[in-house]
Amino acid sequence: MDLKSGLPFWLIKNGLNKDYLTLDDNIETEVLIIGSGITGALCAHFLCEAKVKCIIVDKRMASTGSTTASTAQLQYEIDVFLFDLIEKVGEANAVKAYRKCLDSIYTLEKIIKKLKINGDFDWRSSLYLASNAAGLKDLKKEFDVRKKHQLPVTLLTQKQLKSKFNIDKKGALYNDCSAQIDTFKLCNAILDYHKKHSDLLVYSHTDVVKIANKKDHIIAYTANKNTIKAKKIVAAPGFESQNLLKEKVMQLNSTYVLVSKPMKPTDFWKEKCLIWETARPYIYIRTTEDNRIMVGGFDEPFQDPERRDKLMEKKNEAILKRFKKLFPDSKIEIDFYWCGTFGETKDGLPFIGEHKDHPNMYFALGYGGNGITFSVIAAEMIKDLYIGKPTDSDLFSFDR
Ligand SMILES: Cc1cc2nc3c(=O)[nH]c(=O)nc-3n(C[C@H](O)[C@H](O)[C@H](O)COP(=O)(O)OP(=O)(O)OC[C@H]3O[C@@H](n4cnc5c(N)ncnc54)[C@H](O)[C@@H]3O)c2cc1C
Repeated sequence: MDLKSGLPFWLIKNGLNKDYLTLDDNIETEVLIIGSGITGALCAHFLCEAKVKCIIVDKRMASTGSTTASTAQLQYEIDVFLFDLIEKVGEANAVKAYRKCLDSIYTLEKIIKKLKINGDFDWRSSLYLASNAAGLKDLKKEFDVRKKHQLPVTLLTQKQLKSKFNIDKKGALYNDCSAQIDTFKLCNAILDYHKKHSDLLVYSHTDVVKIANKKDHIIAYTANKNTIKAKKIVAAPGFESQNLLKEKVMQLNSTYVLVSKPMKPTDFWKEKCLIWETARPYIYIRTTEDNRIMVGGFDEPFQDPERRDKLMEKKNEAILKRFKKLFPDSKIEIDFYWCGTFGETKDGLPFIGEHKDHPNMYFALGYGGNGITFSVIAAEMIKDLYIGKPTDSDLFSFDR
């Protein structure tokens, strides 16, 4: 599948990581992880920390799937409002899912500190803007339900938003426990660390084309006709999971991103907070460590790469126009732009854990706008499942 087009900023900024070799032998391990994006890398991290012998394979160069294209904003609030999620999965589960997303941001910071690696992790505040009166009504309802469940949130009035952030919208939800990262850098740093310290083996350009279950093990067959024998397989193939699963578990969408030229410190809004909005299609905004503005959005509900790419120029214009409506004085100019694929589930939650038709496998499918927080949750949960520790995996199970 063609996951992205254009020039993802992270790849230009960091350059290619030294590549790993292609598997050219038959090998054996405890756990085979399919996919070396941020999800696979985090699964490897937790398993390596639990002293489990792991191998990661990827059909592309390591970390160059959706992980390169991500805008990498870390927010505990998922695309589906908590009050909506409560309707879909019940109050206890919905609140638990939101809490897990919040915890995952702290978990990621802890991993980075523990391994002493660099992923440009930065705590940020976040503004969820009411684009119109209906948006404000939703945000007020959302504020009440989040407050009831003691999730971090403040409701800003139009006046407060204008005076504090100089943004002219009807109101906003604010929190100060969001973050931003460079996922591509972080993913490579995790892989490099465990390759060096935990004997993690990473193979790129190694496409798993078939999986066969045996009595007490599982075998993956690669396009190059090699085999990998393992006790368990962790499937972290990103948005290409449909090759491994029979049923359709997500809707694939296209999203567009642009990055500005570097800006002066005075060109930014207060706190350089993350910004998104209730309008659909929406834009989402962050800054980069080298003082650029990154704006994404104007999603389309299809994946067709040709159709997706043809729209890139038009989407840039639409995104810029929406941005300038928020910041009329901004001197923003585009330096890079790209588009990418992302998947969405009906309830906005990921699929994590076992699947009845696939014994000896764990799935780590973190779909939605919060894919990276879901990656953290999936990785820790799968490690717990493997070592036999109780988990809340029912929350994200395939038959929920
Ligand atoms: C433009 C854009 C903006 C986004 N913004 C955000 C955001 O702000 N915040 C957020 O949390 N999330 C965001 N996301 C989502 C987030 O980027 C993804 O959820 C995350 O990168 C997925 O990581 P992954 O490791 O699961 O998938 P990937 O990075 O795609 O990695 C999966 C890997 O599996 C490999 N693979 C697949 N099948 C096989 C096979 N059969 N054999 C071997 N290898 C295989 C692929 O080659 C790939 O490298 C965004 C996504 C996009 C595209």
